[in-house]
Amino acid sequence: MREYELLIDGETLSRTERETVNDPSSNQPVSSIALANESDVTSAVEAAESAFERWRTVDTVSRGHYLRDIAAELRTRKTEIAQRHTEETGRSLLDSKRSVEYAAEYFEYYAGLTHRINGETIPLSHEEFDYTRREPLGVTGHIIPWNSPLLLGSRSIAPALACGNTVVAKPAQLAPMSILELGRAARDAGLPDGVLNVVSGSGSTAGEALVTNEKVQELTFTGSKTVGLHIRNLVSDRLIPLNLELGGKSPNIVFADADLEAAADGAVKLFSNAGQSCYAGTRLFIEDDIYDEFIDHVVSRIEAMDVKKDPNETEISALISPSAQSEVSSYVESAIEAGGSITTGGRIPFGEGNFYEPTLIENVPDDAAVSCEEIFGPVLTAFRFDSEQEVVERANDTEYGLYASVWTTDLNRANRITEHLEAGTVTVNNYASPIPQVPFPAYKQSGIGSEYATAALNHYTKIKNVRMTVDRTLR
Ligand code: NAD
Repeated sequence: MREYELLIDGETLSRTERETVNDPSSNQPVSSIALANESDVTSAVEAAESAFERWRTVDTVSRGHYLRDIAAELRTRKTEIAQRHTEETGRSLLDSKRSVEYAAEYFEYYAGLTHRINGETIPLSHEEFDYTRREPLGVTGHIIPWNSPLLLGSRSIAPALACGNTVVAKPAQLAPMSILELGRAARDAGLPDGVLNVVSGSGSTAGEALVTNEKVQELTFTGSKTVGLHIRNLVSDRLIPLNLELGGKSPNIVFADADLEAAADGAVKLFSNAGQSCYAGTRLFIEDDIYDEFIDHVVSRIEAMDVKKDPNETEISALISPSAQSEVSSYVESAIEAGGSITTGGRIPFGEGNFYEPTLIENVPDDAAVSCEEIFGPVLTAFRFDSEQEVVERANDTEYGLYASVWTTDLNRANRITEHLEAGTVTVNNYASPIPQVPFPAYKQSGIGSEYATAALNHYTKIKNVRMTVDRTLR
C-alpha cells in the first residue's frame, strides 16, 4: 500500500483521517490517501494566496520555463505516474502513459502561450490613449473527476498557472493519486511553494470547503451536472468566474453515403475507457437504408473486443467502482423493460473487478432512460432515422450539448447538419478526442465557461482597461 499525503505550500502533510483507493480491475486496495478537512483547505488557500503575490510578478518567459519544466518532470516520471493512474482508473498502462504525455502537452502548450496573454490598444481621440491589460485572477480552485484525472486536472491547472494564478486542486476520492503525483512533480521541478497545492478528500468536506472559501477567485469544476449545479448555488452570492464542465449524451449520426468502415470505427470509440467519457457518442443514429448493414459492422467490432481481467490485456477497462457497475446493469435492465433488445453484450463477464461487457442496445424508444441519461459505461444505443430534419430534431432532444458527430461524404449536408446541431463540438467524419489547441465549449446543460486553447487564457484572466490623457505635442 502506498501512502499519499496532502501537498500544501510545498510540504507533504500527513493526516490520520485516511481513505483507501481500490484498483477497479480487482477491487484490491492499492493506496492510503490523507483526507483534507476544512482547516487544511483553508491553509492551502492561504498558501496559494500568499504565493500569488510572488507568482503574479514572475515574468511571462520565466513562467513558461516553469511550465516546461513541469512537463519534462512528468515525462521523466512517466512510467511511475502511469502505474498509479492504471491502479486508480483501471486503464491499461499504455493508455495511462498516453495520459501522462497528454498532461505534459497541456503544460507545454500553455508554456508557449505565456507571452501571448496580451491586451489590446484602442484608438481614441488625439489626446487619449487606451489599452487593456489581462491580469491574473488570484487563487483558482480546481475540482477534478476520476474518469481521466491527470489529463482533466492538467487541462485547467496549466492555463491557470500560465496566466499567473495559483492553484488549489481537489482530486476525486476514487482516483486522487495521479493528481497528487502531478503536485509532487511540479514541486520537484522547481515550481515555487504554494503555487500548486493538492488537497485530497471528499467532495462534501474538502470540495465544499474549497468552493465556499471567499479567497478563491475562480472555480473550475469537471464532473456531474448535479454537483456542478450545487456548486453554482454555493457561489451564487459571489461574482467569480466559474467553469463547469459537465456531462453529455452525444449523438453520432451516420448517413448512407458515409464511409461505413470509418464510421463504424468511430462508433465503437465509445468503448474506450469503458464509456466513462463525457463526450462519448452514446446515441448512434443510422440512416434507414444502411441500418442493418451498419449494425453488422458495429457488432463485428464489438464482438472482437476482449474483456480480460488484466488491465494491460483487456480492450474494455473496468468501471471505476462496484456501484458504477451495478448502475450500468440497471440501465441495461431498464432498456429491456422499455422494449429494447440487447444485440450483443449486456452482462457482467466475471466476478472479480468492475468489468461490464461492451453492449449494443436496439429498438428502444427515444424517451427511455438509456436513451436520455448519461450512463457512463460501455453501452451504445442505436436508432434508425429517415431524414435530415428528423435526425437533427432527435439528436438535439437532450438536455446536454457537449459533442456531436456526423458521417457523410456530402459536404453541403455536413455543413447543414453541423449548423443545426446544438453541441459545443461537432466533428465530421471523425470522432476525435479533445486536444489543447482547439476549444471544447459546452452547450445547454453540459456546462458554462471555456477550457482549452486560447479561450482558457481569457477565462483565467480579467481585463483591466487603462484610459489615459496624453500630450502628443513634440517639444
Ligand atoms: P462528481 O460530480 O461526482 O465528482 C466530481 C468532483 O466533484 C470530485 O472531485 C468530487 O469529490 C467533487 N465533489 C462532489 N461533491 C462535491 C461538493 N458538494 N462540493 C464540491 N466538490 C464536490 O463526478 P464524477 O463522477 O467524478 O465524474 C463523472 C462526471 O464528470 C460525468 O457526468 C462526466 O460527464 C463528467 N465529466 C465532464 C467532462 C467535461 O469536460 N465536460 C469531462 C470528464 C467528466
